[in-house]
Amino acid sequence: MRSRIHYTKPSITELEVGYATDAARNGWGEHCYDYIHRFEAMFREHLGVKHAIATSGCTGALHMGLAALGIGPGDEVILADSNWIASVSSVVHLGATPVFVDILPDSWCLDPALVEAAITPRTKAIIAVHLYGNLCELDRLLALGALHGIPVIEDAAEAIGSIWHGRRAGSMGTFGAFSFHGTKTLTTGEGGMFVTNDDVLYEAVLTLSNHGRARNQKQQFWPDVVGFKYKMSNVQAAIGCGQIERIDALCERKHAILDHYRSLLAPWADVIDLNPEPEGTVNGAWMPTAVFASRTGVTRERLQQAFAGDGIDARVFFHPLSSLPMFGSNQGAANASDIAARAINLPSYHDMTDEEQARVVDVIRKTLHG
Ligand SMILES: *Cc1c(COP(=O)(O)O)cnc(C)c1O
Repeated sequence: MRSRIHYTKPSITELEVGYATDAARNGWGEHCYDYIHRFEAMFREHLGVKHAIATSGCTGALHMGLAALGIGPGDEVILADSNWIASVSSVVHLGATPVFVDILPDSWCLDPALVEAAITPRTKAIIAVHLYGNLCELDRLLALGALHGIPVIEDAAEAIGSIWHGRRAGSMGTFGAFSFHGTKTLTTGEGGMFVTNDDVLYEAVLTLSNHGRARNQKQQFWPDVVGFKYKMSNVQAAIGCGQIERIDALCERKHAILDHYRSLLAPWADVIDLNPEPEGTVNGAWMPTAVFASRTGVTRERLQQAFAGDGIDARVFFHPLSSLPMFGSNQGAANASDIAARAINLPSYHDMTDEEQARVVDVIRKTLHG
């Protein structure tokens, strides 16, 4: 039996181990925020933003950001139907109504024309999720947001390393949210980051993130509002410091893996779409994804079976959120359900070998040619 190929795996070196060890040994008392502040500073610099707050995850960063924007019952938030539930759960927790729109067939991200058509007087935010590292059409979304006075939020959990005409994903919206879950390009096990260039929003989220205690509040244990507790620990931030020092190498390797898939799959380029990389952009390539042309007859189920048979973890493309029971069990938007039915996420991790990529492509070849 050949060794199992996992779909993602973190890259942890002596650098991260050294920092984490130091944090575990010395990062207490007056040093209990040292790595957190250092990680936030390095992340700000990497992204080119004014403010960053380390969090327990992307979900918490989104929850606090949306809460700080005052989103609540009666409000509508527009996002793509093809998404992981984490992108919408905070909308639900805040009592607002998610409005799902279909995706574009090439980027698998929300279609700006459908976003525009979905805007109502109740629309209070647009969540642009850069799916699998693919970039949303930010120019059009930001223009729509500006025209209608609606904040555009970037869920960049999958898009560290993605660049839109010189600016990094997550740095362009009203705020951005990142995830450092164990499957993500930069990981702290669990963890995330809230980022913004807006001073007022930053102060509001900082207060919310500290159980509602404003930083200028002089009274001890005196919350000003009911807040949240979505913090990152100093030990996790220490791992994050090692990861962010290596961020260029981590992203370059992800990109190289996508490029290598592209060349291995070149013979089938007319029937397999991989993550796009339009002119002027860089795809962070978090998750190489293959979408098979309808005429090949290849289905998600056949792909799952073929990969499982060869000891390879391949993930299904996200189910349309509107097809989930809590959102109405609909059939899903047209592209969102159609693409998911003939797509698969391919394994990709820092230490993946060319032989392992060849094994993945071999399964695809066999699936296509019987
Ligand atoms: C991973 C992910 C999340 C959730 O991040 P956590 O850190 O697990 O909270 C949210 N949105 C997207 C797009 C993700 O990929």
